Amino acid sequence: MCHQTPIDKIVVPAMYDGEGITTMPVPGRRCPACLERGDTVWVIPGKCCPVCGTPVS
Ligand SMILES: [Zn+2]
Repeated sequence: MCHQTPIDKIVVPAMYDGEGITTMPVPGRRCPACLERGDTVWVIPGKCCPVCGTPVS
């Protein structure tokens, strides 16, 4: 099984202005550990997965 996690563009909440959520595209990676469980969790490279805590770089 291929474990590559290519960088894709994802959209995350960037700021809250009271009226709604402003979003912006950022480069992200899917957490490989969550991906193996069938979950797609986006992690900003250099951060840890918010679900399982796996560092993603
Ligand atoms: Zn994870």
